[in-house]
Amino acid sequence: MRDISEKVSYLQGLSEGLNISDGNPQGKIISGILGVLDDVSGILVDMRSEFNIVKDYIESIDDDLFELEENFKQNTDVIELRCDNCGEELCFDADLIEDDDVIEIICPRCNEVVFINDGSFDYEYSDYDDAIGDEHDNGMNVDS
Ligand SMILES: [Zn+2]
Repeated sequence: MRDISEKVSYLQGLSEGLNISDGNPQGKIISGILGVLDDVSGILVDMRSEFNIVKDYIESIDDDLFELEENFKQNTDVIELRCDNCGEELCFDADLIEDDDVIEIICPRCNEVVFINDGSFDYEYSDYDDAIGDEHDNGMNVDS
């Protein structure tokens, strides 16, 4: 990018040295074009540095997201329920069971109440990986 700025500066110096803009129309056009090129290369340099800032920022968000995902997988007990009304399977954070407030879990499909944390519902704990199914299955079954 710096290379482009240097080339443009060189050409501008050259055109001044040769006095190409003195009088003749072609010379005026050439120095006009060089002026535009100079502006464009300046904009490119600015954009490159802004791009690098944004890129670093996105990379740091990506790292944070990865960390968050790992923590979530490790720390979350999930309760799986099947809606009696429509059969929809749903998962929710087991911490809700311990919550002091009464929390109703509503089926996202049919809006029936599928769970209330007042002790009147049965539930089973399962870990996160069971709850999300075979997503991590690499398809290679090894018989032992
Ligand atoms: Zn339902």
